[in-house]
Amino acid sequence: MKDCGDCRENILLYLDKSLCISRAIEFRAHLEICEACRQVVEAEEELSHLLHRSRPLYSAPTTLREGILRATKGASPRDLPPQ
Ligand SMILES: [Zn+2]
Repeated sequence: MKDCGDCRENILLYLDKSLCISRAIEFRAHLEICEACRQVVEAEEELSHLLHRSRPLYSAPTTLREGILRATKGASPRDLPPQ
C-alpha cells in the first residue's frame, strides 16, 4: 500500500471481505498510521452495517473478524480515556 489513493480503492473491497489476506493486512497497517483513511472506513462501515443488517454477506471466519475488530478498535483514539 503506497498511499491513500491505493487505500481508498481498497476500502469497499475490504468492507466486502473481498480483499485477499495480504492486501487486507497491508490495508489495516495503513489504517493504523492514517487517521484520514480510518475515518473513511468508519463512515463506510456504518453505511455498510445499515445496508447489510438484514442481509449479512460476510463469510470471513469468526476469528478473523474478531481480529479485525480488535485491531480497528485498538487503533481508535475514541477508546482512549479523556485527558
Ligand atoms: Zn491513508
